Amino acid sequence: MPIYRGQMFVKWVFENQHKFQAVRKCSSSLRYKEVEESATQTQPEHVAPPADATSPAPDTHPQITPEISFKYDDLQVTLAAPYQLQPKPDVSDLGFGKYFTDHMLRIHYHKDLGGWQKPEITPFENLNLHPAAKALHYAVQLFEGLKAYRGVDDKIRLFRPDLNMERMNLAAQRSGLPTFDGDELVKCMSRLIQIDQEWVPHSETSTLYIRPTLIGTEPTFGIMAPDSALLFIILSPVSTYYKTTDDGAVSIYADPNVVRAFPGGVGNRKVGSNYGPTIETTARAAKMGHHQVLWLFGPDHEITEVGAMNIFCVYINDAGDKQLSTPPLNGLILPGVTRRSILELASQWEDLTVKEEVLTMNRIIELNNKGRLLEMFGAGTAVLISPISRVGYLDHDIRIPTMKQSQPVFQRVKDTLLAIQYGHIDHPYATVIS
Ligand SMILES: *Cc1c(COP(=O)(O)O)cnc(C)c1O
Repeated sequence: MPIYRGQMFVKWVFENQHKFQAVRKCSSSLRYKEVEESATQTQPEHVAPPADATSPAPDTHPQITPEISFKYDDLQVTLAAPYQLQPKPDVSDLGFGKYFTDHMLRIHYHKDLGGWQKPEITPFENLNLHPAAKALHYAVQLFEGLKAYRGVDDKIRLFRPDLNMERMNLAAQRSGLPTFDGDELVKCMSRLIQIDQEWVPHSETSTLYIRPTLIGTEPTFGIMAPDSALLFIILSPVSTYYKTTDDGAVSIYADPNVVRAFPGGVGNRKVGSNYGPTIETTARAAKMGHHQVLWLFGPDHEITEVGAMNIFCVYINDAGDKQLSTPPLNGLILPGVTRRSILELASQWEDLTVKEEVLTMNRIIELNNKGRLLEMFGAGTAVLISPISRVGYLDHDIRIPTMKQSQPVFQRVKDTLLAIQYGHIDHPYATVIS
């Protein structure tokens, strides 16, 4: 009896659902197999099929040999269909991370399947995550931030991406997330940017911000290294505009009762768990008329960082020389690419002494009272250089003469970095990608 047989089959499926688990778990990787097979018919790029054209997953187990890293050579590209392309916003309306480009890069990691899977570039779309994914509960997560600059010669450049890759791998290590070959990711990233190159603003006050992110996706509650992870890169055109006071500098607020980082912690890694807890303090500072928080540490109120930027001071040292100082990488400081570049560049300027040293609030106040403190500024990829003209601290309202210098160091640093990034000068820090 066909009807009876049909009912039996449904009942069997119902009772044996658990047996299909492995097939479901692998489905995204099985897709790679399909793509791989069709790729042998030499069709590296193709337009995304309509959403309803999903083919059933084959029931063969994918043969993936274990490997340490994914490879650029395995990259699969699926271009967005014309109707999926987003209109490009006006440069004046960009803000920071409000708009996203048409494509994204995705690389899955499944320990059971030998580790890293093949990188894919696909149309930009939402992620599909299990609600128990470790990233959502324990912040098993990390991110990076770098930019693609459209130079005066119309070529697109990256600024020292190898340093971002190194930092990303260090953060992965600390979080139990899988590490990878940074050069391979830079190649995949460059390809993504080439595909979305029209999104790199034709302007020297805007750039394309690149946000590589690595999240633990294993859906179990244990606090341990995840068996599955997802590395993705999304791109956002951004403007470098940010809020300042009338003099073009920012006002910062230092509260000795809160810390951003502590010895032995992860202040030196770009992991999401460092940033959420700064929001309340930043909002409190804003209510008092400040733009950023100056993060202090320890009984002597050492200055560490400002907002999500490294901090620099320029002052006349005890020998009477002009000195550029920033706190040393003692575990409390995020090793900024901008920070390192400033230190390297400025150490070649003969009229400036460059030093990594601990500076306390008392020292800052003392130097300022003696008229020896000349400048303070923040430095990071997002805003590049942010001069500081005021510091709120306990009952002090400290005015820093940063904007009163005739030839400020912050401006020289900024001009030098911009000249490299936008290709006004040739420099090994910049890598042309197209
Ligand atoms: C990202 C970041 C910086 C700046 O690093 P860059 O590599 O120069 O962009 C500084 N401090 C914190 C806390 C950061 O998150």
